[in-house]
Amino acid sequence: FSDRDGVIWFNGELVDWREAKVHVLTHTLHYGMGCFEGVRAYQTDEGPCIFRLKEHTDRLFRSAKILGMPMPYTHEQINEACLQVVRENNLEEAYLRPMVFFGDEGMGLRAESLSTNVIVAAWHWPSYMSPEALTAGIKVRTSSFTRHHVNITMCKAKANGNYINSMLALREALSGGAEEALLLDPEGYVAEGSGENIFVVRDGVVYTPELTSCLDGITRATIMQFCRDLDIPVVEKRISRDEVYIADEAFFTGTAAEVLPIRELDDRDIGAGKAGPITLKLQQMYFDQVKGRRAEYPEWLHNVKA
Ligand code: PMP
Repeated sequence: FSDRDGVIWFNGELVDWREAKVHVLTHTLHYGMGCFEGVRAYQTDEGPCIFRLKEHTDRLFRSAKILGMPMPYTHEQINEACLQVVRENNLEEAYLRPMVFFGDEGMGLRAESLSTNVIVAAWHWPSYMSPEALTAGIKVRTSSFTRHHVNITMCKAKANGNYINSMLALREALSGGAEEALLLDPEGYVAEGSGENIFVVRDGVVYTPELTSCLDGITRATIMQFCRDLDIPVVEKRISRDEVYIADEAFFTGTAAEVLPIRELDDRDIGAGKAGPITLKLQQMYFDQVKGRRAEYPEWLHNVKA
């Protein structure tokens, strides 16, 4: 993955892909204190456009603030870096990875006198799941790993170290024959997937967990807006595991996973055991929106060539 052509934005400069390196004593590599974003650019009739770039950059700055990492760049510089890496790598569709990390000036938990470094990489990363999964839905298993408590790691930060929990849960789910994990919060209520927010539908009402231990997802906010536009009631509330079992429909949302139907949780079919009609409607709206096929919310698309 590191041995390929292309450029990566690294502390204000475009660096050759193979040369974008750090030292083994890089602080973040040791303690996981860092934050990142996952952003996507889609092909539209007007050229490649980044979806909700401003919201992703804003969340990156909020993450850095929560972690107490001083950002050496402005929002505008990071936005421009994102546009630049898609453009300079000639990508028509892309996954973007901005990441903020402490440098190699010293070791130890005091983390004093460390530089804050920023990279933005972009590459072609088609779909997180198979095309069949997007229509048929995936098989999910409730994880034996609990999602973070709000006072253990900071759930509003998309922090590097938080993803140890995600990886433990996902690998457990995969080795058990499922495609994704459902993590519960420390009180046993539904939180989210390893890298996705969750929604359930029952009797025409869409429900999603409150923003306590789950990430404030940008796809989640997009889907909630679509529900309001469609006059589908959408409610943020605590959801228990068995409420998912008896839901008519369930789906995950995320920049990487997009809108992903859940067909089965813990060997129980959700609804008819396939993607439900509200899920498919919202998924279609999402793909139309990100690919520039809707007139609504033009401000959500940022043309890399403009
Ligand atoms: N939860 C977690 C833990 C995630 O990693 C992600 C992906 N960033 C999401 C939810 C979904 O967030 P978004 O829609 O902003 O990609």
